[in-house]
Amino acid sequence: MKKRRYSIPVRVGDVVVGGAAPIAVQTMTKTDTRDVKATVDQILRLQEAGCEIVRPAVPDREAAEALKEIVKRSPLPIIADIHYDHTLALLALEAGVQALRLNPGNLPDREKVIKVVQAAKERDVPFRIGVNAGSLPEEVHKSLREQHAIDRDDRERTADRMVEVALGHCQILEDLDYGAGHIKVSLKATDVPTNVLANRKFAEARPYPIHLGVTESGPVQAGSIRSAVGLGILLADGIGDTIRVSLATDDPTEEIRAAYEVLKALNVRVESPTLIACPTCGRLEYDMVPAVKVVEEHIKALKVPITVAVMGCVVNGPAEARHADIGVTGGRGKGVIFKKGKLYKTVPQAELLEVLLAEVDALAAERSGTAKAG
Ligand code: SF4
Repeated sequence: MKKRRYSIPVRVGDVVVGGAAPIAVQTMTKTDTRDVKATVDQILRLQEAGCEIVRPAVPDREAAEALKEIVKRSPLPIIADIHYDHTLALLALEAGVQALRLNPGNLPDREKVIKVVQAAKERDVPFRIGVNAGSLPEEVHKSLREQHAIDRDDRERTADRMVEVALGHCQILEDLDYGAGHIKVSLKATDVPTNVLANRKFAEARPYPIHLGVTESGPVQAGSIRSAVGLGILLADGIGDTIRVSLATDDPTEEIRAAYEVLKALNVRVESPTLIACPTCGRLEYDMVPAVKVVEEHIKALKVPITVAVMGCVVNGPAEARHADIGVTGGRGKGVIFKKGKLYKTVPQAELLEVLLAEVDALAAERSGTAKAG
């Protein structure tokens, strides 16, 4: 892991992005923004799941106007996601959003961008300059449509163009003395190597915070893997100040869970339990996979960094998971609970999960300082 790259922090509502702030987790709402109740309900669920910044799409005037009520009722800072029409950005500012996302690929008109920047400056609202490889000017994104035919030169060319387009918008803000402290940037591509290249290049070019994501990454399983690879390479490089995992699911809390798993895997931000489980093998001595599911579901609600292990056999399990705070294994009618690799308790197999979950809750309470005295 490389040291985290320095970036000039930006404040999005109460959330600091960049500098020494923790890498923030964000996503988009998947509701129709014009439906205020559905959007606010989803934001509340996202907050519960750990989301810190949320970005509703603003496809039309009605959606922009709905933002007023959404901003009022949202516990999370709102970034209005604007494409094509700069007047929607002006309306979103009037609605009180905490940040604007502009896509330079479809808002190339300098004069229109200047109008938006001037209005944002009056309200001290920052920008995310969000470049997508898929919405670059025609001559470049043609190559990305032929994903499998991409060669290194195409990737270099696309990444260079993405950076150039991002810098063009940065320059507009900088010319208006609204650069440092007001800009964060994203450069997203579906093709992971292109994504990595573009972000590495931008990281060298300007010290603004970088929002990482792999766009259109796919359904939950494949998309989580694609995102983990794309984001993981960059985070290990020290690049990235906020992240989004984009998944084709109607439940955006899955994106939040996946994002935290990426951060946990790199040990960058560990705030919730980590579940480890052996892959099982011919030594498996009990029906372990259902037990993994029960434990996984149970620990979702906990907000403390403990490591729980579910292992397949008594002979190797505890030793293989000795770094876990607490774990279980079983077989031959007996369940074994271990702590840091050492035997802690033996219980009848039938009671194994019940006892483990009670022990996990007790450990979580102790770690979070909520354990009852006496
Ligand atoms: S813990 Fe036991 S069952 Fe699981 S992979 Fe290791 S040896 Fe196999």
